[in-house]
Amino acid sequence: MITPRTIRHCRQCGTAVVYRVPDDMDSRERAVCPACGTIHYENPLNVVGTVPVWQDRILLCRRNIEPRYGKWTLPAGFMELDESTADGAARETVEEAGAQFEIGPLFSLLNVVRVGQVHLFYLATLTSDRFDPGPETIEAQLFAEDEIPWDDLAFRTVRQTLEWFFEDRRRGTYTVHAGDIA
Ligand code: ZN
Repeated sequence: MITPRTIRHCRQCGTAVVYRVPDDMDSRERAVCPACGTIHYENPLNVVGTVPVWQDRILLCRRNIEPRYGKWTLPAGFMELDESTADGAARETVEEAGAQFEIGPLFSLLNVVRVGQVHLFYLATLTSDRFDPGPETIEAQLFAEDEIPWDDLAFRTVRQTLEWFFEDRRRGTYTVHAGDIA
């Protein structure tokens, strides 16, 4: 098991941490403060977003930030502490696209173990085709299935979610999908 060593200093007292297994109750290396004894646990982060639908088209945002500057994504971002997954997905859709919509059910859950993230996308029904992209977005645009820029998508979770969406639409029923990005 490889622990990413991303913490350098203790969040309590600022002393440089050391990575070690803190005690015999644990089996993983943690960032342990040699001065005050604080153990810093690191766990996966949730990325939450939507699949915004307008008639037969899907809203994508072109990223104005790294990573993947200039690539297309579904509106999504890191969940905040004071919100539910659905609330976070809705907030990101407002922030990145300035879209007006009604949030729907959970559609996809994807583990991205390599980077310690879980991505969740909710269906959303747009109530307007006017957008007001925020600073993280170059442009927000609607795409039919045959217009999706498959070679310029920002993330594999976005590609997988869109593939599941169009498969479900052809079948005529939408279900929850779960999977892993290898
Ligand atoms: Zn400390």
